[in-house]
Amino acid sequence: MFIDEATIRVFAGDGGNGCVAFRREKFVPRGGPSGGDGGRGGSVYLESSENLNTLLKFRYNPEFRAERGGHGEGSDCHGRDGEDLVITVPVGTVALDPATREMLWDFSAVGQRFLAARGGRGGRGNARFATSTHQAPRTAEPGQPGEKRELLLELKLLADVGLVGFPNVGKSSLISRLSAARPRIADYPFTTLEPCLGVVALDEERSFVMADIPGLIAGAHEGRGLGDRFLKHLERTRVLLHLIDVAEHSGRDPVEDYATIMKELVSFSPTVAAKPMLMVASRVDAAGDSHRLFTLREFCRAEGLELYEISSVTGEGLEELKRALWKKLAETPKIPAADDRIPATFRNPTL
Ligand code: GDP
Repeated sequence: MFIDEATIRVFAGDGGNGCVAFRREKFVPRGGPSGGDGGRGGSVYLESSENLNTLLKFRYNPEFRAERGGHGEGSDCHGRDGEDLVITVPVGTVALDPATREMLWDFSAVGQRFLAARGGRGGRGNARFATSTHQAPRTAEPGQPGEKRELLLELKLLADVGLVGFPNVGKSSLISRLSAARPRIADYPFTTLEPCLGVVALDEERSFVMADIPGLIAGAHEGRGLGDRFLKHLERTRVLLHLIDVAEHSGRDPVEDYATIMKELVSFSPTVAAKPMLMVASRVDAAGDSHRLFTLREFCRAEGLELYEISSVTGEGLEELKRALWKKLAETPKIPAADDRIPATFRNPTL
């Protein structure tokens, strides 16, 4: 299983201080105490969302601070409460204590909220300290500090996009060219086939996981080397990207390549083969007279397949491809599965 992880620090807002003030009005001698309470500091929450696929955004920005509470003011004015901060995390994320690895929360469904750091209480103003015997108190409380905490987030990554195509058509080059970061690879069930996997970022908020489907050709569907778990992993892939080499020297027929791969894919896994698919003409920088590219364009038009033309060497077409993939993913529902969370032995303490 591929695990993405990030350590974040969350700081709730401090409470505002209570105020010491006395009423001063014309014709009201000895106005009583009127210092208002400080506002509550904002709390920090984590909330699960299905619009995120990775923890990548936390590498850009690992610190989160909620607003502090406003101080109390004279004339019994209560300080403003600090605004809460809600940080979205992908469904499937597990929050742990980094020191003990104790599980704090398991986001198993959309819309769950976990209070990560509680905002400090506001201090009371002197108006609250008045008693019959002590009518002009000069005491007010300071606000309580907000909680702060370090959290380790872990997420089992699922390949959103699976790459298919003949060997040497540029699959791993594409992944490394598009990848923003490489996730930690842990507990991999087989060692002979190193899958190539990368996290692709459109911006800080939007990212997805792209994985090569290794060894598709050469009898992969007979199960050689491919563990059941990896196959399951791929079955959760939502969109396929089919790369066809249009480089001049390859001397192959793009339409034939397409048919061969599709046939192989169906025998490998009909579920995987039935996924929505985008076509890619790869290595267009080396297309020469573009004969193969024209053939592929014609074929895709006739078959109603969406074609993107790219080069991982020059970078041509990569932005458009990224955006098209994101759009396709947004249109394609996620496949729910019971085992998305890690590790299985954990139990959600408060659900
Ligand atoms: P894979 O087997 O499908 O993963 O293919 P690779 O990514 O390993 O690429 C195979 C070969 O094609 C390598 O020598 C790459 O340097 C080369 N290659 C990959 N992408 C491009 C490209 O866009 N243009 C050119 N000219 N060569 C490329």
